[in-house]
Amino acid sequence: VAFPSDRPTVTQELAENVILTTVDDLYNWVRLSSLFPLLYGTACCFIEFAALIGSRFDFDRFGLLPRASPRQADLIILAGTLNMKMSAATRRLYDQMPEPKYVIAMGACMITGGMFSADSPTAVRGADKVLPIDVYIPGCPPRPEAIIDAIIKLRKKISQESLQDRGMQQQTNRFYTVSHK
Ligand code: SF4
Repeated sequence: VAFPSDRPTVTQELAENVILTTVDDLYNWVRLSSLFPLLYGTACCFIEFAALIGSRFDFDRFGLLPRASPRQADLIILAGTLNMKMSAATRRLYDQMPEPKYVIAMGACMITGGMFSADSPTAVRGADKVLPIDVYIPGCPPRPEAIIDAIIKLRKKISQESLQDRGMQQQTNRFYTVSHK
């Protein structure tokens, strides 16, 4: 069998990929096991998020520790409604979070503007116009079990990331701008 001359040898492939894959796995396992969500709530969806923090749903078992400062958080669960005035503050909170960071949009209001989308002049019709969203949770309001499901999906997403891809995503994030349309 003839191989193309520019094909990398097995030794080259090992040097380029095997060590990086191992580092990715270790790095991802650490990150997905200790997500620190920012305490963020603008309306009724936050009541369901607050229930998740209590002993009945006990989301500490996933390694999640709520933080009051964006500088200590790497996850923001957007719970509530988003209006134009709040969108700039929300974007500022996101920008203050250290990389790598993730966003979950919770509830109909965050995903589409919800019941306010029809005739409110100030509702933002989708948080994805302001922030890059990793996981969406539909519902009005979504139950705490749905948030747990979203956390599991986010953990799966993190487990499949590579450091290289995340670096490219960080560059893309820089070009996001606040838009109210
Ligand atoms: Fe409230 Fe429903 Fe909007 Fe959540 S989706 S903020 S529960 S109106």
